[in-house]
Formats: sequence, C-alpha cells, structure tokens
Amino acid sequence: MPRGGVCAVVEDGVPCERAARNGHSGLCSRHRAKALVRGRLGELGLSAAELAALPRVPHLYLHKSVAIRFAACEAVGAASDASAVALVTAVLGRTLRATVSLECVRAVYRHVGHRLARPVELGGLALDDATAERRSPEYVGELFYSRGGDWSFAVTSASVYRACTLGAKHPTLSLEDALEVETFAAVRWSLGCTRLVVADTSPLAALPRTMSTVNAVALLRMDAARA
Ligand SMILES: [Zn+2]
Repeated sequence: MPRGGVCAVVEDGVPCERAARNGHSGLCSRHRAKALVRGRLGELGLSAAELAALPRVPHLYLHKSVAIRFAACEAVGAASDASAVALVTAVLGRTLRATVSLECVRAVYRHVGHRLARPVELGGLALDDATAERRSPEYVGELFYSRGGDWSFAVTSASVYRACTLGAKHPTLSLEDALEVETFAAVRWSLGCTRLVVADTSPLAALPRTMSTVNAVALLRMDAARA
C-alpha cells in the first residue's frame, strides 16, 4: 500500500522516498517521466480512486534536537519535553511522516551514549562505558529502523557543508543549526517535507518555513480533527 504524498514506485524492494507530485498519478517527477517514456504510467501510477483512498499524512523535517529530546526522555528518563515526545510518537504511530538528517541518527546515538554513562546526579544512568556503548547504537537502530516509524533520511551534501563552514550561509547560527536549515532547504522539494520543526525554545523558529514543536503538535491536532 503506497503512502500518501510519497511516490508509489518500489524498485528492487526499495520504496522511492521522493514526494509524489500533484497530477502525477501518485509518482515523483522522475518516476512519472520514466513511466511515460516506457508507456507504463497506467501500470505504475495510481488511479484517481486509489489516490483519494490514501491517508493524508503530514510530512515535516525534524531538527535533530527534537529526536534527541525524545530519546533523552525515553532512553534515559530525562525531564519530559511533551511536544517533542508527541511528535516522535506520531512518527512511530505513522500519523506523521518525518525526514531527519543522517547526522541526526548519529547525534541521537552520541547523546544517548553520553547520558547513559553520565553520573546519576548529572542526569545520567551511570552505566559503565562498554555497556553504554553497546546500548546506545541498539537504541538508535530500533528507534529509526525497527519500530515501524515513518522516517525518511536526508543526506547533507558536501556543498551544504562548504557553504555553512565558509560562512556565507547563516553566519549568526551555530554550525549544527546552519547544517539542519540548509539540509532541509536542499531536500524540501524532492522529499516533500513542508516545514522545519525546531525545539520549542529555539531562535530558529522565526525563520521562514520553520515552526516550533508546540506549533507542530497543534497543526497535527487540527489535521486529525479535520480528517
Ligand atoms: Zn519516485
């Protein structure tokens, strides 16, 4: 069953992650063009009835701090960030599609490992380093790859790194934030994520096409009420 808003093509068992374009029979621009050339649009594309039956799942790009806050609550029992928890819970329940950078996957691993090994009085679980190093990748692997969440992953290109480090892009932002903002901008169209979602207290929330986790949760509730 294809997902709403995502290209319906599966190649060698791997589903296409690109956004389905309006009027493209549920296919991304690339696969529609290929299907047209080969005269296979009727076979690969979806009918109007099939398109209408697809669930409409919002698709947001989550700043890595959102996933880190969720993981800190879940894996280490850190003070709860209710809106970050609600968003990632929605991704795991497939009522929200989320794109994250691959750097986010590693950042969650690093953060969880660090917190697991930290002393209890500093908010950690005081595990020995070897145990923390074993558990952290297990946790991350499950969160992103085996719990059935509706995740897609964005690769940050060399040109984005170059633009963010040489200073032309976002000189007032930290490198971490600049890379997230530019990675979102680079994949927004091809993957179809509509907004960058940042942790509630982040100054990034004032940027165009960006919203806080609290507003994103409100948006999901409005969508669910409309459906
Ligand atoms: Zn496609």
